[in-house]
Amino acid sequence: MSTYVTPRHRVYFDHAACGNAIECLKCVHVCRDHGANCIGFVNEKTPPVGENAPKRLEDIKHIVFGVRMYRCDGCGKCVEVCPRNAVRLEKVDVPVPRAVVYQPPFEIRCSIFKDGSMPPEAEKIYNGILEAMKQAGANKG
Ligand code: SF4
Ligand code: SF4
Repeated sequence: MSTYVTPRHRVYFDHAACGNAIECLKCVHVCRDHGANCIGFVNEKTPPVGENAPKRLEDIKHIVFGVRMYRCDGCGKCVEVCPRNAVRLEKVDVPVPRAVVYQPPFEIRCSIFKDGSMPPEAEKIYNGILEAMKQAGANKG
């Protein structure tokens, strides 16, 4: 287990300004290359099948969205790289301590209250999960 202090910044997208994200994905790439990989993309609707099936991936409307934002360090590269001014980053001033445990395909995340405390019941449950994962030989990241 690693304990991080991460500010949990938020990222917002203006989908109308972005247009069809699959034609760009600059924000996705820059965040991935930065090592955080916080930005995902998905098709907006299920595309039709059969005769009307789209011929190219670009014919399917995609949107971008924030995911795994606990990895975001607030670098701002997603905002800088966007050619359409469609990305807004909301930085959080107060860092929130968090603990993260990885065991693919599982990922457990646990928030700790801003004053660094954890409610006794939550702590009990969290420690139980950690112990169970330890016994299962979980990787710790
Ligand atoms: S601020 Fe940096 S780390 Fe956060 S979502 Fe944007 S590119 Fe990724
Ligand atoms: S960089 Fe801007 S235009 Fe390009 S996919 Fe991201 S939000 Fe859309």
